[in-house]
Amino acid sequence: MWRVGTDSPDVPVDLGAIDPRSTPGLPGRKVTGDDPKLWARSEVERIGAELATQQEMLFAQAAVEPQLGRTVLLVLQAMDCGGKDGAIKRVAGSMDPLGLRITAFGPPTPDELRHDFLWRIRKALPPTGYVGVFNRSHYEDVLVVRVNGLAPESVWRPRYKKINDFERRLAGAGTTVVKVMLHISRDEQRDRLMQRLINPDKHWKFNPADLDARGRWDDYQAAYAEALARCASDEAPWYVLPADRKWYRDWALAHLLRETFADLKLSYPQPDYDVTAQRHRLETDG
Ligand code: AMP
Ligand code: MG
Repeated sequence: MWRVGTDSPDVPVDLGAIDPRSTPGLPGRKVTGDDPKLWARSEVERIGAELATQQEMLFAQAAVEPQLGRTVLLVLQAMDCGGKDGAIKRVAGSMDPLGLRITAFGPPTPDELRHDFLWRIRKALPPTGYVGVFNRSHYEDVLVVRVNGLAPESVWRPRYKKINDFERRLAGAGTTVVKVMLHISRDEQRDRLMQRLINPDKHWKFNPADLDARGRWDDYQAAYAEALARCASDEAPWYVLPADRKWYRDWALAHLLRETFADLKLSYPQPDYDVTAQRHRLETDG
């Protein structure tokens, strides 16, 4: 996984230099054994249990001391077939659904279009103590909007700054924002789109418009490259996660979330009542 640097926002991220089949950060064979895929799958389960505990602590702290509560927001972006749904199922799926707020963003409704582009994003923000996951996000407003010319440059270009301001405010108010681009290759996308056409149970996931977007692959990569560079900050970092290998994708995302939680140094809150006294009451109430 690659953390996007924050020192040269004017230089687009060189996505071409990041191999979507690579597995950065994966331990060597000494640790994984001869089958890294098998190892990664079992690690995802093990880390998943840790994520569940961390999420419960996050939730509990906010419940007991709302003013000190923290929030986590994971923003997932990718080309079609990039694996957002799969990553959410495998990684976020290890946490308690009660503490999760997962929102997918499609084309804006007429009502949403009447508002600023961040309006629907703000409405979907996770409450304090929750883990929010955005399946697509406000970044679509500098990606598909730019590539498809849904708004003129005079409208989408100022959005980089608006996004940075928005995310900085979020971070300042106690939300840890982590942004991940699942980076797949054009070949891998073709294989996955083809699977959707071959398997009748997957037909519903295919959208003919996906092929239009695919036809503009280079424009999308350029739009991603600029968005990543302009909107990577210390408060809300961007990561590029090579995602051609699903087992690596899940492992790397789980690993990143575990590190994100670790930085929060969470623990279960202390009760504001006398535990011994309450136990005694219960034991003696007949
Ligand atoms: P999917 O994630 O496959 O359900 O597709 C959602 C679709 O909604 C994608 O084609 C996105 O490009 C599109 N979409 C999401 N946000 C926006 C937006 N702000 N403006 C236009 N299209 C969007
Ligand atoms: Mg789709």
